[in-house]
This record gives sequence, structure tokens and C-alpha cells, in this order.
Amino acid sequence: MIYADNAATTRMSAAAIDAMRSCMEENWGNPSSLYRLGQSASETLQNARERIAACIGAASGEVVFTSGGSEADNQAILSAARLGVQKGKKHIISTAFEHHAILHTLKRLEAEGFEVELLPVGNSGTVSASQVAEAIRQDTAFVTIMYANNEIGSILPIPQIGEICRERGVIFHTDAVQAAGHLPIDVKEQNIDMLSLSAHKFHGPKGIGVLYARQGIPLTNLIEGGAQERGRRAGTENVSAAMGMAAALEESCAHMAENAARVSALRDRLIAGLSRISHSALNGDPVNRLPGNVNFCFEGIEGESLLLLLDDHGICASSGSACTSGSLDPSHVLLAIGRPHEIAHGSLRLSLCGENTEADVDAILKAVPEIVDYLRNMSPLWKDKCSGKKEFIL
Ligand SMILES: *Cc1c(COP(=O)(O)O)cnc(C)c1O
Repeated sequence: MIYADNAATTRMSAAAIDAMRSCMEENWGNPSSLYRLGQSASETLQNARERIAACIGAASGEVVFTSGGSEADNQAILSAARLGVQKGKKHIISTAFEHHAILHTLKRLEAEGFEVELLPVGNSGTVSASQVAEAIRQDTAFVTIMYANNEIGSILPIPQIGEICRERGVIFHTDAVQAAGHLPIDVKEQNIDMLSLSAHKFHGPKGIGVLYARQGIPLTNLIEGGAQERGRRAGTENVSAAMGMAAALEESCAHMAENAARVSALRDRLIAGLSRISHSALNGDPVNRLPGNVNFCFEGIEGESLLLLLDDHGICASSGSACTSGSLDPSHVLLAIGRPHEIAHGSLRLSLCGENTEADVDAILKAVPEIVDYLRNMSPLWKDKCSGKKEFIL
């Protein structure tokens, strides 16, 4: 099997599994219990918190464990919104191509009377710091802009956006789920007030994430109950997952530069090879993108059919389209960068990691052109285009 869907989730690293196993076997007490078994669990949780904080330049007291990236995004936005209301500020700035954990939470706030301004991301899929500067108003409550896009891999100018928000006194949150472990993050240097992480995107376990909130930014509790996480998130802590997350993040950060060099070389070979398919186009910027991200549109095919046939070849990939998750709408990200509906439906995302090899790339470069040809030959629409009855778009 060739796994090329690392933006969806990653295989857990041996270090993360070992850390979790020893925690589950030996250190299974409740961190809130006063006897030694409980206190040992509490110390272990604190150890995980400190190590994760160190990886992003935060203090350990600024790190709250959550159930993942989605919860961290929800809590960040709802907290910043509440602070805005207290100051009479109800204008929010974000982008059109955020993850749904952000966009759907913003929709909810809109229904509650907030004004949400989604900045356009242009054809290459980014926003500039000056776009953000121009959008900030007296009544802007907060800015939330992702660090790197999960579909097309573009990397946003987060330190510059952070600087502008800090100058103008506006809270800045970034969804860094795709960046963590792949790009250097330093919340202090980059002027980030709040940041979301998810362990399963960097070879840690699913179901755990972190919300970083700068000291002095009060969080709204989404889950009421006990006083865990200093009253910011109730529920008995998942100590073993926290340890798995810490081990995975430390390992990813320790090997970041060498992994990025190796993986981006594989990525560029894939991009060069797939570009040779006629009537195809790379989505996103050729240079400014995550080391492992490849995203193409192929005219005249359905992304879902391509995925199913790739699966028959033992290749795991994803389509920009959300059809697989039960919706027939094409990807909001591809529409945001200006792809027409018909083209957005025929997309393919391959996301690589340090475990992928040259042989994986060769196999993908053999399979994709064959499958695209096969699907095009079955398509009446494709025949119309070839005979000149309909125009080619790409
Ligand atoms: C995966 C992802 C999330 C959601 O994280 P979960 O831990 O799966 O809830 C949020 N934002 C981005 C950019 C992601 O890629």
C-alpha cells in the first residue's frame, strides 16, 4: 500500500506508540487523585504539556489540551468572540479557505449578530498582511487565519499578519494544524495570540490537540465540569494521548529541516510528472507550499472515480471535493482560488510524509496518467471537448 493522504491523518510514530503504551500500562491513574498513582499521572501530563509548549515557544501554562484541532478552533473563536462582545466589537476577519472547524463556527457567530469578513485568497491561495491591515477596523474583535492550507498546501505570511494584529491591538488566532511539525512555529516571535494543533497530523494519536492561548487571554469553557486544565476544559485528561502527542511533536520538530528537504524533492517530482498530463493544472502556488502537498485538477474526470481506481492500485489519496463525506459540493478551497465547479470536481490531493519513497512516487506517476486516460475515454463530456463541440477549460 502507498499512503499519500498525510494531510487527512498520519501513521503514528513508534516513539508516540511507545510513549502511549508505557503510560497506559504503568501510569493509568487519574491526575486529579491525591495518592501517588494519581500524582504520577499529573506529573506526566505536566511533562507532556511542557514539551509541547517548548516546541512552539510557549509557556506550559498557556497550553490547554483539547480533543483535537476542531475543538481547539471552536474554543479559540468562541473565546475571542466573547471578549469582543465585552468590548462592543463584533467584526471578525478570516479567509474564504479556512477549515470547516473555523468556517462553520464563524457561521454560527454570524447568526448571532457578528459581521464576518472572509478575505479573498486569489488564484495562488494566500492573503497578504496588507490585505489584513486594510480590513482591520475599530470594531474588529479578532482575526483568524490558517498557517497552511490543508487542501492546496499554501503557507500564509503568519508572522507578518501577527505583527499587524499586535500593532492594532486585535487578537490573532491561527489554525496551525497543517503547519505543526512541518514548519517552524514560535508563538512569541510570530506574534500569535492563539493557535490550534492536532496530534494526528504529525504522527501522534487521534482525538487529542492543543489550544495555545497567550497568558492573559481568558478562554470560554466549551465543556463544563471539573476543574481540569485550570478550569478551561473539564473532563479527566487523556494522559497517554498527551504523552503520544509530545513524543510525536518533538520527533517531527527535531527532524523538520531534513524531512522538509527530502519530502519537498519527492513533491516536486510528483508535480513535474503530473504536469505532463494534458488539460491538467496544479492547484496552489508551485513554490510557496507545504513540503508534502500536491494538488491537481484534471479536466473531464470525477475526483471520486479517480480515488476509487487509485485505491484498486493500493494508493491512498484524497480529492479536494467533499463528495466522499456525503456532500455533492465541490471543495470550497478550490472554488476560493477561482476554479470553476466542473474543474473543481476533478481534483486529486496527494500528501506525502517522511515515510514516502521514490518508489511510491514512481508508482503514483505510473497509475495516475493511466487512470485519467481510462476515465476520460469513458466520458461523453470529454468526447464533446475532443471533437470541438465543447470548449476545453484547462
Ligand atoms: C485536520 C484539520 C483540522 C481538524 O483537526 P481534528 O484533530 O481532526 O479535529 C483543523 N484544521 C485543519 C487545517 C486541519 O487540517
